[in-house]
This record gives sequence, C-alpha cells and structure tokens, in this order.
Amino acid sequence: MTNWKKAFYSIIDVVVMDRHSKRVARHLSKVLLYELKGRDTLDPPLKEKFLKLQTRMQELGKPIWIVEGFRSAIRQRSLSSNVTKATDLQSYHQYGIAFDVAFKFHNWTPPEYNWWYVLGEEGEKLGLIWGGRWKNIVDVGHFELHQGFTWRDLKHYFERSI
Ligand SMILES: [Zn+2]
Repeated sequence: MTNWKKAFYSIIDVVVMDRHSKRVARHLSKVLLYELKGRDTLDPPLKEKFLKLQTRMQELGKPIWIVEGFRSAIRQRSLSSNVTKATDLQSYHQYGIAFDVAFKFHNWTPPEYNWWYVLGEEGEKLGLIWGGRWKNIVDVGHFELHQGFTWRDLKHYFERSI
C-alpha cells in the first residue's frame, strides 16, 4: 500500500475508533448519572444479547441472573488478583461491555457442572465471548462483547479524554 493510503486509512481508523468510544462514553455517563444497576449498566447492544440469553436459559429450565455488569475503577481495584488479573481500565466490565451471571436458586453451584457449558454455548450462539474458554483464569459466568474494538482502544480513548 502506498504511504498516502496508509496515512489515510490510519486517520479513518482513528475516526471510527473515536465514534465507538464516544458511544461507549455516552452510555457510561448515563450509567453514572442515573446510578443504573444490573443489566441497565450494559452497553445497549450487549444488554440486548443478555436479555436474549436470559430468555433462552429460562426456556431451558436453567434461569440466570446478572451478578455484575459495569464495574467502576474503584471496584476493579478492590478485587483480589484471584478474581481478576485486570487492573485499571483493563477489563471489559469497566466499559459496560461485559457481564457476569450465575444461576437462579443455585448461584455458582448448579446441580450439574454441565449447566455452565449449556450457558456458554448459548452465549456463543449470540456472538458473545465466553470466559469458560479462557486458558489462564477460567471464568464460566463471564461474557463480553467484542465489537471491532478492545478494552485497549477504549483505555487509550478514556485516558486521552481526562
Ligand atoms: Zn466478568
């Protein structure tokens, strides 16, 4: 690719990234302003998927509830390293694009461990990234949505904005 084309596309990348980041930032401002809780803290495209997952799991007789959606920087810092390796602005939770769920009536100990796989696969059908596939810390109740950008892109944007 010629240099001017490279330069052009890198500008386009920044413009597109900023659009994504601003949308996430607008949503987070509402979360804080209205002190939203639970599923309402989720970035709207993720909230839609969460609701579908919840409905599907209800149909399968394995109902779920949301344990955590958006997580503030203060709360992220308070979590022990056994729970997460992520620190400030390094978790999808901090942008409202991740959620943790558990099973109604059973929380983290469903009658059969297989319930987690049923849950994970239903989430994956909806295009979610499931923490049950992770190698380092397996996190069976965790889902996140990748929308063409990562927490690194968002971190860069939010650090630049303050
Ligand atoms: Zn999580």
